[in-house]
Amino acid sequence: MQDASMKDLTNKDALSEYVKTHIDEAISNGWIKVYYQPVVRSITGQLCSAESLARWIDPEVGFLAPDKFIGALEESGEIFKLDCYVVKQACRDIRDKLSKGLPAVPVSVNFSRLDFIMCDMLDVVEKAIAKYDIPRDYLHFEVTESMIAKDEDLMKDVIDRFRTRGYEIWMDDFGSGYSSLNLIKDYSFDLLKMDMAFLSNLAEKSKIILRSTVVMAKNLGIKTLCEGVETKEQVKFLKSIGCGKLQGYYYGKPQPLDDLMLSLSEKGITMEERQWRAYYEAATINVIDTDAPLQIIEYDGNTFHTLFINDAFKHQISVITEDNYELDKTIFSENSPLMSKFRQFANKAIRSKSNESFYFTDKGNYYLLKGMYLAENQDRYLFKTQITNISMDQNTTERDRLDFRLRELNNLYEVVLLMNISANTVYPLLGGYIYMTEEMNEFMTMKAVYTSFSSTFVYPDDQSDFLEFMNFETMRERLNKADKTYAQKAFRIKQADGCYQWRIISIMPIPGTAYNEFLYGISIIPDEIAHLLDNASYSNFNCSGTETDALIEEYARLWATLLNNSSHKLFWKDSNRRFRGVSKSFLEFYELESLDEVIGKTDEEMHWHVDDGPYQGDELDVIGKGKFVVNAPGQCIVNGVVHNIICNKMPIYDKGKIIGLVGSFADVDQEIYRVNKLLAPSKLDNMTRLMNSKFFLATMVDYAMQYNDAGKTYGFIMLHNANQKRIEDTYGSKFGVKVIREIGEKIIQVIGQKAVAARTKEAYFGVIIYIDSKKKLEQLTRDLVSNVESINRVDGKSVTIKCPAACLLRTDENVKDETIYQMTIDLLDKQEGIAPEENE
Ligand code: C2E
Ligand code: MG
Ligand code: MG
Repeated sequence: MQDASMKDLTNKDALSEYVKTHIDEAISNGWIKVYYQPVVRSITGQLCSAESLARWIDPEVGFLAPDKFIGALEESGEIFKLDCYVVKQACRDIRDKLSKGLPAVPVSVNFSRLDFIMCDMLDVVEKAIAKYDIPRDYLHFEVTESMIAKDEDLMKDVIDRFRTRGYEIWMDDFGSGYSSLNLIKDYSFDLLKMDMAFLSNLAEKSKIILRSTVVMAKNLGIKTLCEGVETKEQVKFLKSIGCGKLQGYYYGKPQPLDDLMLSLSEKGITMEERQWRAYYEAATINVIDTDAPLQIIEYDGNTFHTLFINDAFKHQISVITEDNYELDKTIFSENSPLMSKFRQFANKAIRSKSNESFYFTDKGNYYLLKGMYLAENQDRYLFKTQITNISMDQNTTERDRLDFRLRELNNLYEVVLLMNISANTVYPLLGGYIYMTEEMNEFMTMKAVYTSFSSTFVYPDDQSDFLEFMNFETMRERLNKADKTYAQKAFRIKQADGCYQWRIISIMPIPGTAYNEFLYGISIIPDEIAHLLDNASYSNFNCSGTETDALIEEYARLWATLLNNSSHKLFWKDSNRRFRGVSKSFLEFYELESLDEVIGKTDEEMHWHVDDGPYQGDELDVIGKGKFVVNAPGQCIVNGVVHNIICNKMPIYDKGKIIGLVGSFADVDQEIYRVNKLLAPSKLDNMTRLMNSKFFLATMVDYAMQYNDAGKTYGFIMLHNANQKRIEDTYGSKFGVKVIREIGEKIIQVIGQKAVAARTKEAYFGVIIYIDSKKKLEQLTRDLVSNVESINRVDGKSVTIKCPAACLLRTDENVKDETIYQMTIDLLDKQEGIAPEENE
């Protein structure tokens, strides 16, 4: 370098000339440095990405900021050299972190318009990520509105191609010039970077623009970031309007990577791990600027943690603190009565993955909390919640009425449930879940709860009436017709002792919910009234009309047929557990000559069981408590041979009282033999819709036979997702299964009915096809690879699939039917075995 030119470099043109003539040298000599500026997620305060910004540190000229060289390089068309270098350097830096097992965040790289004219930027990027083996979601690319304005067609194509490949495209300096709104309409971006000019004076107008821009972006499903954040006030404002990411000197200037790491750890800023990205994005997109109370909370199965809460929410629960940590201590303290309600709510919402709600009272106020499940990762769950203080929002008389009703309910009802029609949920207000079996639980839908209640607890003859009574579609009409504010009806309900007693069921729509929420109560009836009801209901049945006679005759015939011909071994007993009758198959099983040998006897007297205890206990429960015995295993002895049996027993009722039991049993050994004969083993892989390896191998034999007998050539392809382990390390093995399933689908898409495919093991896939040329086979292999590698998102999470493949034709040299499988695998392994070169 000549000393003479040095002086001239203070002159702008001379500097520009110097830059243009020295760019190659600057790159090859390492004068170009990539600096990184931190980007922080506003709801967590964690580092979520970094922007790469170029610096030219010249041994002669000294430190050059981008404004000194970007313009010149754009003029000369050489900017692509710089940008290609930055892409590679960013990849190298990310690979370095990953290889050391350190956390890394995505890097956003700035592009210039000329990059796409002077070179194939997508190809450069794809080669770099392949070389450094980096998932695509570690790179984002920034383009500006002015780039687009200059060449709309080119940029549209560029943006689409990058995005379909799985890269995020960010719109830089949004709002700094040109017709920004049109751009968001016509192009797809993943994120808007709002220009720092808006922040430089946080006047009312700028605030309104930022606030509306964030709302607009969220409605369009676009993420938001604000640049140039320098002060605490700006941070607070941007958080309150729901801006997702923050970048600026407040968090750090652009600096060399090592300095950045050091300053982050000094500031106590931690890094968002890749597997948490989708989870916190889900939270971020739900933080909106609204007058309605809004809170975003996180639940770890035990405690809750507030990620965002707006003033309206705080107003409803009368707290003022600015500090979410303090706030959590108040709302979610272990001795707060709310804690268990919140947990119930959370567990329910996790199951239903939708809206859930609950009512609660606190210091004399009634609240309704509604919430929704948003996302989960590693046993942590996100919810969006909304709260209404009913006592605050409505006038006092409404509140008094509710209060009165609740107190009244307490005295009269055994059980009060809150039913929500649109959410299809049931919430117990009183009495918990008496009248609930083990299968019924708080997560069941409303309809499931009352249908299950009906079949388990309502007297069989009353069940259809009960379901009619519970029909919420006709409720409003029925109430209007009867001119009542609630509906009531008596039903016989099974009690703990197994007998049925009369209960009144009441349903009352809650005012102000537009027939969406109902109180459902069960209350006891005084004995005299119950007695009257008994007589009325049975006299009905006892009247001997001709219709009833015909019905009884029909039942009798059915029963006789079953007893004579069914293979089911049936029996019934009186309340003293003595046989009153058995079916023909029962007699045959025990090798008995006639009914007389068994009628009037108990099991013990027949000496049938290896151990009398269990069945005896079961039967006492059936007769005493109305229990149903389902599939109870046992052993019985017939002529010296022990048989394994399973038994079912149920009570027989007459007028609500248990008068005996009826049952059936099956010989397990016989059943297993029968079922085994019916069932053929499955051909399908348990993760995908492809074949499993066992059947795949069997199928290969068919192909081999066709080749030898009919001369039909076939080809064999093996594919492998080389990134499967990395994906499972990041997102867990459950997620890995989803990826495998997706790959299976992609393979099916390509081969259709033409070929057979299987998952042979782990993330390995095999395909066999009748095909007559190597060219065609190779083309099919490429099609398979590119379709599989086109997966870049599974279940909302970014993934990068790398799918090496190998193929062999039966007629290839040295290939035999017995060896084609192993040879293809060897070929694939050999391919994968080639280590990627570390450096250029
Ligand atoms: P940009 O992409 O909008 O980058 C943001 C610029 O704002 C950076 O300037 C950064 O240092 C600055 N900045 C960040 N936070 C604050 C803050 O809180 N206050 C203030 N006053 N400034 C802040 P820098 O690094 O000088 O870069 C300027 C521009 O040069 C960039 O604007 C980008 O358009 C361009 N550029 C930088 N590196 C590259 C590159 O590698 N390739 C291309 N094509 N362009 C680049
Ligand atoms: Mg930028
Ligand atoms: Mg910018």
